[in-house]
Amino acid sequence: MSCAGHLTIDLGALQNNWRALKARVGEACDCAAVVKANAYGLGVDHVVPALSAAGAGTFFVATPEEGQEVRALVPDAPIYVLSGVFTGRLALYDDAALRPILGHPDEISEWARFCEAKGETLPAGLHIDTGMNRLGLTHAQAEALANDSQLLRAFDLTLVMSHLACADDRDSPLNRQQLAAFERGSALFPGVPRSLANSSGVFLGADYHFELVRPGIALYGGNPTPKAATPMRCVATIEAEVIHLRDVSPGEAVGYGATRTAERPTRIATVNVGYADGMHRLVGSTDERDGAFASVGGIRCPLFGRVSMDMLAIDVTDVPEGTVVRGSRVEVMGPTISVDELAEAALTIPYELLTALGARYKRSYI
Ligand code: PLP
Repeated sequence: MSCAGHLTIDLGALQNNWRALKARVGEACDCAAVVKANAYGLGVDHVVPALSAAGAGTFFVATPEEGQEVRALVPDAPIYVLSGVFTGRLALYDDAALRPILGHPDEISEWARFCEAKGETLPAGLHIDTGMNRLGLTHAQAEALANDSQLLRAFDLTLVMSHLACADDRDSPLNRQQLAAFERGSALFPGVPRSLANSSGVFLGADYHFELVRPGIALYGGNPTPKAATPMRCVATIEAEVIHLRDVSPGEAVGYGATRTAERPTRIATVNVGYADGMHRLVGSTDERDGAFASVGGIRCPLFGRVSMDMLAIDVTDVPEGTVVRGSRVEVMGPTISVDELAEAALTIPYELLTALGARYKRSYI
């Protein structure tokens, strides 16, 4: 596959982010790692061993197939499948010793029957819904399970969890409501380790930590709350290569749709990443709306005109003559243009940006 820019993934920074989160939750709380969607697009094959070496001992994925991939990398760690039990694919869980997070009475019955057929009490987690209304048992369903000792004995309940809907908004009243509902729901299963917090939840305070936290995006360098006391280190850097330089005169427009017009003599650098490489169309600019910036030799330069499939145009007029030539590398995302900043320019979130980076980058792990 041809190379469209360089994606460098700093495994040391990833480990550092895990350690910072672990330090924040303290000794009494485990810090797991959410590595679904190929570790948010950054590559489970490298990310999981690095996190494991840093000290992460529990992993969360979305599907049993993802779980199988992770199992090949960490033979002994608990791996939870967040989406629960997929009917007809139970053997996958057993083969790779995966633990489904059961979030519906039908899933519980299915797992219990599977355990019975195997003659083993296999481990599983439980999801109690506390207000997100996506997955999880209602409080009444959790109560029914807690009172059904025969059903409870059919499998080994190793985790009770819930998920916060608005943890990235510290002021949302839903956070406290969900916390109270989780305390009530998890109390039905005394002694079972509890988990509520994703990355942002870690920063809501110790009340939200319980016995295990489940960060994802913060590990990969997304800052879950803008003013987080522990800023996450940049993990993924995208550098694009200048493939063309040209000067345009005032009044001339650049790119598809001629959406951005030069107001001054403007030097345009065309670089080799585009929307096929995860550059959301909104990072481009029009005469009415600014888009994202790239860092060229440390100078912030605006993207000029629309994003093309394989290219971006950048206004490098303010870069000193001779600094940028064909073949120069420019930072599209990284330590200067953070994943949060690039996502914000595209009116999206770092999750969407990272998981859409595509396969064309030349990837290096450092
Ligand atoms: N827990 C659950 C149930 C999730 O679905 C996710 C991510 O989608 C996470 C934790 C990790 O969330 P974040 O990436 O915001 O830390």
